Amino acid sequence: MSYDITKIRNNFPVLHRKVYDKPLIYFDSAASSQKPVQVLMAEEKLHNDYYGNIHRGAHFMADKATEDFENIRVQVRNFINATHREEIIFTKGATESINLVAFSFCEAFLNEGDEIIVSEMEHHANIVPWQMAAIRKKARIVKLPFNDSGILEIEKLPHLITPKTKLIAVAHVSNVLGTINPVNEIISIAHQKNVPVLVDGAQAVPHLKVNIQEMDADFYVFSAHKMYGPNGVGVLYGKKSWLEQMPPYQGGGEMISEVSFEGTTFNELPYKFETGTPNITGVIAFGAAISFLNETGLTEIAGWEHSLLEYATEKLKTISSLRIYGEAAEKSGVISFNIEGIHPYDLGMLLDKMGIAARTGHLCADTVMAHFGIDGCVRISFGMYNTMEEIDIFIAALHKIILMF
Ligand code: PMP
Repeated sequence: MSYDITKIRNNFPVLHRKVYDKPLIYFDSAASSQKPVQVLMAEEKLHNDYYGNIHRGAHFMADKATEDFENIRVQVRNFINATHREEIIFTKGATESINLVAFSFCEAFLNEGDEIIVSEMEHHANIVPWQMAAIRKKARIVKLPFNDSGILEIEKLPHLITPKTKLIAVAHVSNVLGTINPVNEIISIAHQKNVPVLVDGAQAVPHLKVNIQEMDADFYVFSAHKMYGPNGVGVLYGKKSWLEQMPPYQGGGEMISEVSFEGTTFNELPYKFETGTPNITGVIAFGAAISFLNETGLTEIAGWEHSLLEYATEKLKTISSLRIYGEAAEKSGVISFNIEGIHPYDLGMLLDKMGIAARTGHLCADTVMAHFGIDGCVRISFGMYNTMEEIDIFIAALHKIILMF
């Protein structure tokens, strides 16, 4: 199947706008992707047609909204090939999904003196919740390092795992380095020692096909807004056997079975972990985003984004004052870099004035910045809708900026 980039771009009205009178070049999909009309229309349809609060159905509207919401749970299960629908918990994003596990799993299984292994290339969302849990339980965080090419030193992992290790937290794809980590191998090493693994899939799910049963992750988290879907919706996949043993994360409506002043019994999975009125609109629009991803084809998207990555990397390497952070062979469409003598904020600001949206700063990954001894960098990241022509314009913009300095 050929990749019809014009057709794909036409699904995203926002890509046709101008910024400072220049055509928008959106190179910040790793932060949040743009939304196709299919997603916007799903939101509109719900509100024009059948909106009601879910799981409280005493009428047609509530029943119809509940039915759609629960169908999307099944759609998410199918999308990642999970075994059971009850293993899909809706949250407000990857961050909340990790916080849920860091609270509930650690409440049940982490004790004083225990250890959690966290990779050095994690987003803050996959470090801080573990640190908070470790403080609460008087446990310890152990670092799994990466090398200067941005590759995890997984040969060290078997030695880092001790009888005190209770969990390993690792990104599937790094949001700074772009490295696609060998999560299957990591999980297999961990499982040989009966240690569960949480995989942060926020940067993976929009770009490569995930098969949870094959991967055998114990927990896998991601956010809809990086998948061409709405913000405020995320997923926690958790193996039923773990989720059943974990206490609820928050208390309130939906997660209860019965409440009295003497005590409360909790609902079954997945509702035990879903409190209050969820983001009904967001979840239903998320379904449209998944359908859109499936129709476009993840293999095709991955192939296209890989061509963009190779093309841009080759061009960037011709700039002698530019350093790329993250040069793993297995890499997704993310390039972080600095140019000698130019502060990343200045670079980002000048690119912006040329219509190019790039991300600047620490990228919520201080430990990665510390590894390279930098305060920040510039990151470009690709989505299914970016083009080689945009890369050419971006490279020309960089040359112009270098001349200005
Ligand atoms: N993990 C990674 C690797 C990310 O890139 C991000 C988002 N930048 C997150 C977690 C957090 O995602 P969210 O803000 O959607 O909760």
